[in-house]
Amino acid sequence: MSRYDNNLVVLGAGSGGLIAALIAATVNARVTLIEKAQMGGDCLNTGCVPSKTLIRSAKVAHEMRSADRYGIAAREPEVDFAAVMERVQAAIRAIEPKDSMARYSELGVTCVAGHGALEDAHHVRVGDRLISTRSIVLATGASPLLPPIPGLEQADPLTSDNLWALRDLPSQLLVMGGGPIGCELAQSFQRLGSQVTLIDMESRLLPREDAEVGEFMAETLSAEGVDVRLGHQAKEIADGMLHASTGSGDVAIAFDRILVAVGRRPHTEGLGLEKLGIETAANGTIVVDEYLRTACPNVFACGDATGPYQFTHMASHQAWYASVNAMFGRFKKFKVDYSVVPWCTFTDPEVARVGLSESEAAAQGIAVEVIRYGLDDLDRSIADGSTRGWVKVLVKPGSDRILGACIVGSAAGELIGEFVSAMTHGLGLKKIMATIHIYPTLLEANKFAASTWRRAHAPERLLKAVGLLQRLLR
Ligand SMILES: Cc1cc2nc3c(=O)[nH]c(=O)nc-3n(C[C@H](O)[C@H](O)[C@H](O)COP(=O)(O)OP(=O)(O)OC[C@H]3O[C@@H](n4cnc5c(N)ncnc54)[C@H](O)[C@@H]3O)c2cc1C
Repeated sequence: MSRYDNNLVVLGAGSGGLIAALIAATVNARVTLIEKAQMGGDCLNTGCVPSKTLIRSAKVAHEMRSADRYGIAAREPEVDFAAVMERVQAAIRAIEPKDSMARYSELGVTCVAGHGALEDAHHVRVGDRLISTRSIVLATGASPLLPPIPGLEQADPLTSDNLWALRDLPSQLLVMGGGPIGCELAQSFQRLGSQVTLIDMESRLLPREDAEVGEFMAETLSAEGVDVRLGHQAKEIADGMLHASTGSGDVAIAFDRILVAVGRRPHTEGLGLEKLGIETAANGTIVVDEYLRTACPNVFACGDATGPYQFTHMASHQAWYASVNAMFGRFKKFKVDYSVVPWCTFTDPEVARVGLSESEAAAQGIAVEVIRYGLDDLDRSIADGSTRGWVKVLVKPGSDRILGACIVGSAAGELIGEFVSAMTHGLGLKKIMATIHIYPTLLEANKFAASTWRRAHAPERLLKAVGLLQRLLR
C-alpha cells in the first residue's frame, strides 16, 4: 500500500518546474505539477521568448536605418508597433505547445491549475484539494521588483510582466536599471522608435561584467541615441517627471512611460514555508544546501526561487539535481555543480560569459593570464561589417587551462559554447587550436584567441633547434 499519492509534487511550471516534472515522469515516478498562472512560466510568457522576439524586430529596424553601411539606401523604418507585439505573441503561441498541460499530461505528469501551498511536509493544498507526496520541488520563480520610490506605483510602471500587453509605442521611455534586461529592452525600444533614457544608480552598465564591457555597452547604446544616465539615484516621481540625485546635484527626467528592470524577487508568499521552518535569505531566495534541499529534508527548490543564477538554463540545470535528489536522495545524492555557468546578454552586439571575469579573478586573488583577440582582425567580421568586439580568455598562468571567457560581438551567445564545452570537459586552448574551424566563420575568433596564446608561449628553444635542422637539410 502506498503512503502517498505521489512520489513528487512540483510547484510552478516554468523552466525549472517543467524539467523537474519531466525527469520524474521519465523515471516512472508519480508526479503532480501545479501551476497557478501560465504553463511555461516567465521564460515563455514574459521573459526570454518575448524579449528575444522583440530584439529581432528591433534589429530589422536598426539595419534599415543603417543600411547605407552596406551600400543600400538607408531609410527610416515605418514601425507598426502593434504588429511587432503581435509577432511576439505569435512566437509565444508557436512554442507554447511544448510547455502545455496537454503535452505534459501525455508524458505522464498530472497537471493541476491553481495556487499550491505547503500544508505540511507531505501535503500540498490547491484550493480545497489536498495532494499527498513523498517529496516536493519548489520552482515558483520570481517577479520584477518594484523599488519603493514615492510616486512609482501611481505612474503605472511597465515591467517585464505587463510590457507585452503594450500596443502603443511609448514616445519617451524611461528605463530604470542597467542590467541585462534593462539594456536589452532599452536598445530594442530605441531602435523601434522610442526616445529612451536609461538610468542606473551604478557608475556603469552590466555591473556583473568587467568594467570595459559596461563602457562598451554605454557607448553602443549612446551611439544609437539612448540617453544613458549613470550614477542616477531615483528619488521620486512627481509631476510626470522622475527626480533623481546625481553626484552633481538633482535632476528631473521627463517620460511618458517608465519601465522598471531593477531586479527580480522570488515568489514565496503564500507558499507556507514558515510552517515547515523553510528559510528565505535577505534577497527573498529560498535557502537550500548544496543538494538544493531546504531545511525540510524532503522539500527541494530550483530556479529563480532559490538562485543564485536567474537564467532559464540554470533553472533546468538545477531542476535535475532537485528532482533526482528529491526522488533518490535516500540512496544517492548529487551536489549541484556550478563550476561552469554561462550566460548571455542579448544586446547587439551580444555579451556572453562563462567562468571567471578578470575583475572576479582579481577580487578573489586568483592569478590569471589574459588573452585577447579583437574582432576587427577577423575576416568574417570584416565581411559582415560587425567588427566591434573581442574574445577575452582567462587561463591559468603557465598552462592552457581555461578559467573564463567573455565574448563581446555578433552571435557571442552562440560562440561562447565552444568555451563552455572546453571548460566542462577539461579541454584547454591547445585543443581549441587543434580543432578545425570552418572559414570564414565568426567561430574562428575562438581559434585565433587560442593561437594568440600559443604565439605568446611559443617553444622558442624547440623552434630554434628545428630551424638549425632545416638549415642542415637545405
Ligand atoms: C525580460 C526577461 C528576459 C529574460 N531573458 C532570458 C534569457 O535570454 N535567457 C535566460 O536564460 N533567462 C532569461 N530570463 C530569465 C528566465 O526567464 C528565468 O530565469 C526563468 O524563467 C526561471 O525559471 P523558473 O522555473 O525558476 O521560474 P518561472 O519561469 O518564473 O516559473 C515559475 C512558475 O511558478 C508559478 N508559481 C509561482 N508560485 C506558485 C504557486 N504557489 N503555485 C503554483 N504555481 C506557482 C508561476 O506562475 C510561474 O509560472 C529572462 C527574464 C526576463 C524577465
